[in-house]
Amino acid sequence: MTEFELIRTYFGDLGSRRDDVVFGVGDDGAVVQPAQGQALVMATDALVAGVHFPENAPAETVGDKALAVNLSDLAAMGAEPAWLQLALVMPAVDHAWLQGFAQGLGGLARYHQMRLVGGDTARGPLTITVQVVGFVPQGAALRRRGARPGDAVVVSGTLGDAALGLKLWRGRADREDDDVAYLVNRLHRPTPRVSLGRALRGLATAAIDISDGMAADLAHLLEASGVGATLDVDRLPLSEPGVRFGGRQRQWHNALNGGDDYELCFTLPRSRLHELDALASRLGVALTRVGTVQQEPGLRLVRSDNAPVPLESTGYRHFPE
Ligand code: ADP
Ligand code: MG
Repeated sequence: MTEFELIRTYFGDLGSRRDDVVFGVGDDGAVVQPAQGQALVMATDALVAGVHFPENAPAETVGDKALAVNLSDLAAMGAEPAWLQLALVMPAVDHAWLQGFAQGLGGLARYHQMRLVGGDTARGPLTITVQVVGFVPQGAALRRRGARPGDAVVVSGTLGDAALGLKLWRGRADREDDDVAYLVNRLHRPTPRVSLGRALRGLATAAIDISDGMAADLAHLLEASGVGATLDVDRLPLSEPGVRFGGRQRQWHNALNGGDDYELCFTLPRSRLHELDALASRLGVALTRVGTVQQEPGLRLVRSDNAPVPLESTGYRHFPE
């Protein structure tokens, strides 16, 4: 099989057909036709085997996750996904792996009605770089800046599952166990909050996706907005399997400092807080208010009784049960 046959076989018809793709895979560049009035939002992420995913992760989940982490960035911008490109560097041609990878990537692409329009294929250490392009009405993109004192800090889903999932995967925990399966799945197949991001246009004052732990990513949002916040660690949304398996203390730590959750964190004017519950049930995703934006810069962690928690040591002993 020549290189181009390989590309055609696995990547020539990946994702949903779209009318706005004039020419996709096969030319020197893709030709696309965005709709009038839409701005393009672009994001890219490289996944290196052994760094961003375990070397032995199932190929299908690698394909899924390579797109999911990029979709999470589009979600944080409030964008609607449209096209993707794939730069694939791999040590050898492994058809079983390629088949699984294309299945995982294609499944998620179709789910979001995206089309793979081009890419590059080369030999080297396994590295997957996906670039995504999405639309947002001109002027409507969400940004990290924009949070104002008094805004509520809200987070989607549950936090800390992927960090615990990684530990369980590495420790070869029993995947027949429902809790383990759930947690490992949260690591391998994160759910990008695309429809939430779109719904937050014109509602959230600022947004970011959580890829490096709530503490670090919220701090980025606050810094970009030139504000600070108080975060109530007792309100951090933890999953039941996470608490059952990891214990509440460790999951607090994982929620604040663990990676790979791909939930959205956003700020909301207090006057619109009453819309939160309806939004959560319409989208089928938990939305939890965890803190309040303040004028004074920096992130302050507190317990529900307002007792401060040192930021640099969000570890176990500071979270007595
Ligand atoms: P060039 O030599 O011009 O860079 P390539 O041989 O790399 O062209 O690619 C030929 C065509 O296949 C191009 O349309 C390119 O976008 C596409 N392509 C190459 N690799 C991939 C891939 N991994 N996924 C999707 N499309 C790809
Ligand atoms: Mg060329």
